[in-house]
Amino acid sequence: MTGGRPNRTLDVVVVGAGLGGLAAAAHLSGSGHRVTIVERDSIPGGRAGMIEADGFRLDNGPTVLTMPNLLAGAFEAAGADMADFVTIDAVDPMYRACYADGSTLFVRHGREAMTEEIRAFANAREAESFGRFCDWLERLYRVEMAHFIDANFDSPLDLVKPWRAGLELVKLGGFGKLGRKVASFFDDERLQRIFSFQSMYAGLAPYEALSLYAVITYMDSVEGVFVPRGGMHAMATGLAAAVEKAGVAIRYDTPVTRILRAGDGRVAGVEIGGDERIAADVVVCNPDLPVAYRTLLGGVDAPRAARRGTYSPSCVLWVAGVKGLPPADAAHHNIHFGRDWDGAFRALIRDGVRMPDPSILVTLHSLDDPSLAPEGCTSIYALEPTPNLDGTVDWVRDGERIADSLRAQVASLGYPTEVVVERMYDPLDWEAMGMERGTPFALAHTFRQTGPFRPNNVDRRVPGLVFTGSSTLPGVGVPMVLVSGKLAAARVEQFAEGRR
Ligand SMILES: Cc1cc2nc3c(=O)[nH]c(=O)nc-3n(C[C@H](O)[C@H](O)[C@H](O)COP(=O)(O)OP(=O)(O)OC[C@H]3O[C@@H](n4cnc5c(N)ncnc54)[C@H](O)[C@@H]3O)c2cc1C
Repeated sequence: MTGGRPNRTLDVVVVGAGLGGLAAAAHLSGSGHRVTIVERDSIPGGRAGMIEADGFRLDNGPTVLTMPNLLAGAFEAAGADMADFVTIDAVDPMYRACYADGSTLFVRHGREAMTEEIRAFANAREAESFGRFCDWLERLYRVEMAHFIDANFDSPLDLVKPWRAGLELVKLGGFGKLGRKVASFFDDERLQRIFSFQSMYAGLAPYEALSLYAVITYMDSVEGVFVPRGGMHAMATGLAAAVEKAGVAIRYDTPVTRILRAGDGRVAGVEIGGDERIAADVVVCNPDLPVAYRTLLGGVDAPRAARRGTYSPSCVLWVAGVKGLPPADAAHHNIHFGRDWDGAFRALIRDGVRMPDPSILVTLHSLDDPSLAPEGCTSIYALEPTPNLDGTVDWVRDGERIADSLRAQVASLGYPTEVVVERMYDPLDWEAMGMERGTPFALAHTFRQTGPFRPNNVDRRVPGLVFTGSSTLPGVGVPMVLVSGKLAAARVEQFAEGRR
């Protein structure tokens, strides 16, 4: 159980104050456990980080916040009201989609506004299809969220237990290909792109992803895109403040060097810097799961899926504080599509090479929140999906050239680029920050790496160890990672129950 009286009060150490670790701590403290978070960095948030320099505050992680109700749920679990810690605003337009043929689509917040936008951009038939598409997405989401996302799995059989839900998924066409399904609603290839590119967030090409993954499109296109005031990182600082208020101790600048185990194999606590130890009944582990097995659990092999699995593509990210203002028609999120579509995914995912004609995302956080940049300046966040380190790019040799071409592409699109402060990240940087295969997006969500087939959040060999975060259940991205914290807390309760 979470959110009530605990089965038994446990001492829990959470390794890492990423959103997964913070969400787990929120649920565990709400249930009355004694929780300490031990974080290697000096700020919370992990991948949802922030750089403060020269009057700029630059997010360097997620930029598209969907399903803020899940974030509110984490605050609630800690006995807090999200509104007291962070203000979340809707982003409208959610995206400006710029196509290679020169056309532009503004993806609007809310069904009615978007229907009208599609009517003007394409035609009445496509606008009408959007309504049917949303209805289909909504049904898909309802079935999946309750039975297959917000659920722990102990065996593949758990997948068929909710058989009615499984049947409903079959009826909804969830096991067909996403690209084809979206094309069955929209004839306009540009609309097909804007309603299927989200599969990229799961590390998949629309032509190979199952329609099941359209739930990501639901989360973004139907439920909407949001942004916290003060930048995305404010979610993490807000949640960290809420869990501290609920009694959780957070120790920053404290890297865990080992997860300690008793003679019978169960966890006994964590070691810090080789000499200090914190005893614990349970350790909740938030670092990237394969890396945690390798570096903190010496002697225990990571599950096969983590060792041998297919990892999502990575990205090159350029964040910069620049002088000047963006073009007048720029939106908060701007997607600049390359000419090719299927070929771009084939390059990235199958061939492990850079897209020949890169599609990029340019986010302008300061557009809606001037507090993030000095007057007359802009915060630029430009992200180009690239292969991860399993691909064929030689990042040592070519990293700088690829970074330069991303900067040049951003300039050629009309954004200001007179740099005051900047950081560039490529897959080697992500790897150095502890992300397996140099990707921030973890194991791809192929069917065989999802649900009961994804590395589990518990390991029978190490009782008392629970994982949270994007490389375990249910998966990658802010909404999923928040759910993973809740699922991890439920595992801790199971453990407590077993020890009564
Ligand atoms: C560039 C980029 C763009 C993204 N875009 C989006 C987006 O638009 N929308 C979206 O939903 N998601 C997006 N994501 C993905 C999303 O940010 C992640 O899925 C999510 O934040 C991962 O959270 P986590 O808790 O699993 O891991 P992390 O945030 O990595 O947390 C792990 C924590 O553990 C700490 N840690 C590691 N090792 C140790 C140790 N030994 N001792 C103590 N602490 C340790 C780390 O410092 C970190 O704080 C993006 C990510 C990146 C990087």
